[in-house]
Amino acid sequence: MIEKAQTNENTLTHNKLMNKILSGGCHCGAIRYIVTGEAIDSDYCHCHDCQKSVGAVAVTWCDFKSENCQWLEGKVKEYQSSDNIFRGFCENCGTSLTYRHKDYPQFTTIASATLDDPNRVAPKYHIHTASQPDWLVIDDALDKYPHARS
Ligand SMILES: [Zn+2]
Ligand SMILES: [Zn+2]
Repeated sequence: MIEKAQTNENTLTHNKLMNKILSGGCHCGAIRYIVTGEAIDSDYCHCHDCQKSVGAVAVTWCDFKSENCQWLEGKVKEYQSSDNIFRGFCENCGTSLTYRHKDYPQFTTIASATLDDPNRVAPKYHIHTASQPDWLVIDDALDKYPHARS
């Protein structure tokens, strides 16, 4: 009986832990990561740098504490897209995975679409909407900022 009770407790702890772990990776599978803890923030970015570097009209990003991010397989190659910004991608398949500001190494921003289950982190607002193409119509209820948020 005691053994059984312990097993149930372990299963419960395990399930609680699993609920807080996010996993993801690039398209080819060479890069795999897990993230623990809650996303600090999440948004859609419509800026030209995101558009060009990712090859899409908008990118959804989620921010995590860098200490909570663990690279299980592979490593992103970084491209410096502006003075302060480094963007990480898979050297093999080209998937864009990360965004990093050189002055804030304590935060790692991950492209939500690389999560195994992007439903786990929903974006909260849009930034740089002034750069979105005219034909892109977004009628969700989220706040929209023409440029940066602050
Ligand atoms: Zn890859
Ligand atoms: Zn952007």
